Amino acid sequence: MNDAPGITPKSTITCPECGHRSTDVMPTDACQFFYDCKGCGAVLRPLQGDCCVYCSYGDVKCPPIQAGAGCQD
Ligand SMILES: [Zn+2]
Repeated sequence: MNDAPGITPKSTITCPECGHRSTDVMPTDACQFFYDCKGCGAVLRPLQGDCCVYCSYGDVKCPPIQAGAGCQD
């Protein structure tokens, strides 16, 4: 997978349970559905209408969304 210009590959997730923040590199070719909080161990899932945890809890949306392609399951 090539990194398209203008795509930010990293997103900082803020855990809704404990407020722990963690910056991670997102997969560019898939959506991450589950995310284990490194602070409290909670398993985060996307909110309704979101395709992945980065869209719900991250400060940067996932690469497919940034590219305007949307996310397919
Ligand atoms: Zn947490």
